[in-house]
Amino acid sequence: MGSGKSTQALQIHHNLTGRGLACMLVTQLDRQDGVVSSRLGVSAEALILDETVDVFRLVNSRHHQGEGLNAVICDEAQFYEPHQIDQLARLVDELDIDVYAFGLLTSFQGLLFQGTKRLLELADVRQEIQVEARCWCGERATHNARLVNGRQVYDGELKIVGDTTSGGDDEPPRVTYDLRCRLHWLAGKEDARQDSLFVDQDDIDIVPSGQNDLTVSR
Ligand SMILES: [Zn+2]
Repeated sequence: MGSGKSTQALQIHHNLTGRGLACMLVTQLDRQDGVVSSRLGVSAEALILDETVDVFRLVNSRHHQGEGLNAVICDEAQFYEPHQIDQLARLVDELDIDVYAFGLLTSFQGLLFQGTKRLLELADVRQEIQVEARCWCGERATHNARLVNGRQVYDGELKIVGDTTSGGDDEPPRVTYDLRCRLHWLAGKEDARQDSLFVDQDDIDIVPSGQNDLTVSR
């Protein structure tokens, strides 16, 4: 999404493993076949978790099997279930493993992800990544817009992999993401509202409903 969090996750992974520390890189969503990659062309193999995985049990067993883990680095942390974030906290408190979690604050709907919310509640340190992502207007980009076939949407599934390609009519719609400033993230909402208001007058019947109100039906 160009927000720079995968790059940061990979940077930390690189720095720690370079110092000889045992690290585990985990991510959510099978978008890259078990690889965390950044737009800068860096990538590393990662373990993919889904919402059913007990992260504590998984890491605990690996921790005790091998020579021990020093750190777990999580990408796409916004998609973790809140109880999985609690499991990450247990890794820190009970196994003395450092956890670095990278994720987005808010969804394309402009609301805190549930995983992120739990992270904010539990994390020892919270740090906003300053990648200086910019909206097309030049303002700092603070919001993620989801575009379906180029048009911004505010409703839909929370988890959709971006940058899917489309071909013919039978292909699924093309979903992409765009970083925007708040003004232009909200501007898309206004555009969508205007579109929905623009209907052919011939299509509208106004019928009385109750005594004092009118229902507009199409
Ligand atoms: Zn803007």
